[in-house]
Amino acid sequence: MSSQVYNRVALIGLGLIASSIFWASKRAGLAGHIAGSARSAETREIAREIGLCESVHDTAAEACADADLVILCVPVGAMSAVMQEIAPVLKPGCVISDVGSVKRDVIKAVTPHLPEGVHFVPAHPLAGTEHSGPRSGFAELFDNRWCLLTPEDSEAPEAQQLRAFWEGLGSNVDYMDPDHHDLVLAVTSHAPHLIAYTMVGVADDLQRVTDSEVINYSAAGFRDFTRIAASDPTMWRDVFLSNKDATLEILGRFTEELFALQRAIRRGDGDLLFDYFTRTREIRRGIIDAGQDTDAPNFGRSR
Ligand code: NAP
Repeated sequence: MSSQVYNRVALIGLGLIASSIFWASKRAGLAGHIAGSARSAETREIAREIGLCESVHDTAAEACADADLVILCVPVGAMSAVMQEIAPVLKPGCVISDVGSVKRDVIKAVTPHLPEGVHFVPAHPLAGTEHSGPRSGFAELFDNRWCLLTPEDSEAPEAQQLRAFWEGLGSNVDYMDPDHHDLVLAVTSHAPHLIAYTMVGVADDLQRVTDSEVINYSAAGFRDFTRIAASDPTMWRDVFLSNKDATLEILGRFTEELFALQRAIRRGDGDLLFDYFTRTREIRRGIIDAGQDTDAPNFGRSR
């Protein structure tokens, strides 16, 4: 029985997220044909070599011709230029979507270029690894992870159809207001990444004083920070520049809490520290109970 949701899909940008969409879609038979395009000849060459996409095109516009669904899988800061390039070839009734980690800024970047009769349904899969590029994707990346859709009208047929596509990729799907999305992600993802980048930077400074101790005696906490801090620099630069307000708001609160803990340590206030850590441990238990405690539920590379 076919579970095809779209006849023709185009993936623009062929990195971790696009390649995972392709393999997961193949696994479930969600699309009749998936066309792909990437900026560099090198990425297109790798895509052809590993069979990523049924057709690989030299330009985004070529890949989008006759597409029923186009998913923009490029860094947030590149969405506007890509949308401008493909707008003239989109057929009426085509749905544009994206996978950007920030929603309000992407909506601002894409909406002005939407041709008449083309709908935009923004999306953000809450799944990823620190790896990037066309070889890094795998079919299980979205299994049991959330994908948040932020359409203007969640009852519209194009939103429902995209929902069916993401459910077919293995995700749980929810709708959210774009501003609320950006605030929630600032707490759960963006600020933690900045903290990890900072912590690794601090340790790197320290390393100059203590030779290779930081690396040799890397305990689990610091190793986890280094994994997060290995995430793609272009992607994360764009995330912070485009989710500026929410990230700064959360970092302000973070700094206040940090000062409170710093004061408790200086004053020897063990009760405060114990109560605080008990509360945060409960949050961790809640995440485990919700089945959201790993980045990738099955890190096998089956495509
Ligand atoms: P990736 O593996 O680095 O792939 C990015 C792709 O975009 C590459 O094909 C790259 O082309 C292309 N690209 C980069 N800059 C471009 C530009 N200026 N114009 C046109 N194309 C450009 O990235 P990814 O992890 O798949 O991330 C893609 C999107 O998913 C981002 O918007 C990110 O916010 C979002 N996202 C990422 C994660 C995650 O954990 N990684 C999770 C959820 C959502 P070349 O290969 O030719 O350079």
